[in-house]
Amino acid sequence: MTLSRAGFRASVLEQSPKLEETGAGLQLSPNATRILFELGLRDRLEPFAVKPQMIRVMSGGSAREITRIPLGDIAERRYGAPFWVMHRGDLQAALADAAADMIDIEIKLGHRFDDFATHSNGITVQAYRGKQVVDERGAVLIGADGIWSAVGERWRAQRKPTFSHRTAWRALIPADAAPEPIRAPVVHLFLGLDAHLVAYPVKAGKLINIVGIVHDDWNQAGWNAPGSRDEILRHFAPFTWSEAVRDLIRIPDRWLKWALLDRATPFSGGSGPVTLIGDAAHPMLPFLAQGAGMAIEDAAVLADKLKAHGDDPERGLRAYEKVRRARTARAQATARKQGSIYGRTGPEAAARNFVMRMMGGERLLKRYDWVYNWRRS
Ligand SMILES: Cc1cc2nc3c(=O)[nH]c(=O)nc-3n(C[C@H](O)[C@H](O)[C@H](O)COP(=O)(O)OP(=O)(O)OC[C@H]3O[C@@H](n4cnc5c(N)ncnc54)[C@H](O)[C@@H]3O)c2cc1C
Repeated sequence: MTLSRAGFRASVLEQSPKLEETGAGLQLSPNATRILFELGLRDRLEPFAVKPQMIRVMSGGSAREITRIPLGDIAERRYGAPFWVMHRGDLQAALADAAADMIDIEIKLGHRFDDFATHSNGITVQAYRGKQVVDERGAVLIGADGIWSAVGERWRAQRKPTFSHRTAWRALIPADAAPEPIRAPVVHLFLGLDAHLVAYPVKAGKLINIVGIVHDDWNQAGWNAPGSRDEILRHFAPFTWSEAVRDLIRIPDRWLKWALLDRATPFSGGSGPVTLIGDAAHPMLPFLAQGAGMAIEDAAVLADKLKAHGDDPERGLRAYEKVRRARTARAQATARKQGSIYGRTGPEAAARNFVMRMMGGERLLKRYDWVYNWRRS
């Protein structure tokens, strides 16, 4: 959509045969919602979004509050755009609907990118539609194909992502099945021994998204491996985890899990008429909740730079990569650091909780200013 708004025609090749409601919740911070609003998406998204009033940081052991990081109107005034939580499927559907209204965007489902060849006036992409090979010509190729990017792989043998020895478990429950405080428009973050758990409402408050992140050696590819309730409960063991948290974990009938990956190289750009955005360029651990936010920022900057270098798209791509390198590397590094802070155990965990309580929510929020206050120059 950002490309179309900047006056370009975009052909989107997506391997999935249909757009379905995959994934669970997403925190969309002001740096991302600001761009979505600039694209005219506020009215489409708002009916599905929840504007949390705060992040309530809780001790997983006692289920008592450590501190509150204010969001709601405070964050919206401070950053000029709201902090939202929503279901990924709702964001995807709103983007797809809006794209369908734009004649410059063509979404080609069931097209799996396979290879490309560059030539003097652009690029030819080869994709598979089922077993049939189809060619697509364009001025530039933007690999937005996620952490296992085939575009990145073809362009150069990209360093493979590495397993972080952590697994994310996720579940959705009806809001009326959740305890009263969890139903409130609040992001609950429970920090505890060797694991943490996040819960917030999605689908305009009708469902609660629960994500537990645990240390684990299970490491299989894919986003939707089924996991059992007993297995996740073993990671949130009695006595170290409060029964209130364990009761919450007992509610969903169905848990899904996926292994968390990281990649040591900070930013993979491109060369010639090829570039990468989002997880393809800079995968990051989810502890800063910024992977999708950074991908949305990428899309905005990329369109700006292509427009600014209208007669030389390759210069536009290099200008985009230059602008994005430092910021996305900082987000990756901060996410990694946040992960190690969340994962503390024993006296170190007690010290972390004490420091957070002493700092208070306002000062904790200030630490995110560089993320949330971002504007494209
Ligand atoms: C547990 C967890 C929680 C998270 N929470 C948040 C959060 O709260 N906020 C946030 O901002 N981020 C969050 N993230 C990160 C976020 O999910 C990702 O950063 C984001 O989805 C990356 O978007 P992307 O478009 O780059 O890649 P993807 O979402 O991976 O999309 C890639 C697309 O490319 C397609 N594709 C792949 N290969 C091909 C091919 N060969 N041909 C054609 N199509 C192809 C795929 O089908 C897919 O549709 C979280 C991640 C995890 C694991």
